[in-house]
Amino acid sequence: MRYTNIETALAGARALLQQKDIEQPRLDAEVLLAHVLGCSRAALYAGAHRRLEPGQLQHYNRLVQKRAQGHPVAYLVGHKEFMGLDFTVTPAVLIPRPDTELLVETAVHLLSKRAGGRPLMVDVGTGSGAIAVSTAHLVPTLRVLAVDISAPALEVAQKNARTHAVDDRVVFLKGSLLEPVMERLNGEPVDIIAANLPYVPSGDIPGLSREVRREPLLALDGGPDGLDLYRQLIPQAQKLIKPGGHLLLEIGPGQGETALNLLNNWQAKLYRDLGGRERLIAAEKR
Ligand code: GLN
Repeated sequence: MRYTNIETALAGARALLQQKDIEQPRLDAEVLLAHVLGCSRAALYAGAHRRLEPGQLQHYNRLVQKRAQGHPVAYLVGHKEFMGLDFTVTPAVLIPRPDTELLVETAVHLLSKRAGGRPLMVDVGTGSGAIAVSTAHLVPTLRVLAVDISAPALEVAQKNARTHAVDDRVVFLKGSLLEPVMERLNGEPVDIIAANLPYVPSGDIPGLSREVRREPLLALDGGPDGLDLYRQLIPQAQKLIKPGGHLLLEIGPGQGETALNLLNNWQAKLYRDLGGRERLIAAEKR
């Protein structure tokens, strides 16, 4: 009787994914099979003729079908790497993007220039907790308040904080923008507010890839020009940040000038990501 080994399973998956116009059919076929078998991608090559158990093959076929329908790999395997750390993700959260590492690197750099004490950061719209958890991991004296309006997102973020052992320094709050922070802090000033809020212009949503359209709309849709939530956030942040403290906003390509104009009381700078796209505003409060 014919049986399916690693090599033939991969070939079949690759062909299906290619036929469905999935961008990286070979990589995705391998990542999904490594996930099912609980091994590394390299081990797939070493064991190319290893036979798959019927249950493993069934599980693999199910994941490959879903991938062919446009489900993102990160949701299918349940995790994604960000800043060298492994994050649990579910469809309740935006999948952390490499572009957002620029924001974390900038936060860590600004925090490293502060003298002593236990600095305080707020991560608004924390989602998976990628920004809050990785920054706390890199800055051991940091305290973080991480806010999200979505309860299922906060559960994922809390799990990630526990995984990376920063749950004693990251406090999660449910609510809209900085409202829960204002209630909690009672006047204690904040060093840094980081925000990767929804910034995709509403009109661009239908044109997003089928993968991105499986991510929460709540984490993507930023209104007519994408900057609605930042317009609401900036005056709130103005009240909470200490003079000389910073507001970091992730933005999308083409939003730099408008975003800088929203911050004309601040000393604001625009940064580009590794792909040369406008990606981050760092604004110092005067
Ligand atoms: N960078 C995301 C994208 O390209 C958008 C994330 C956001 O709106 N905060 O889809």
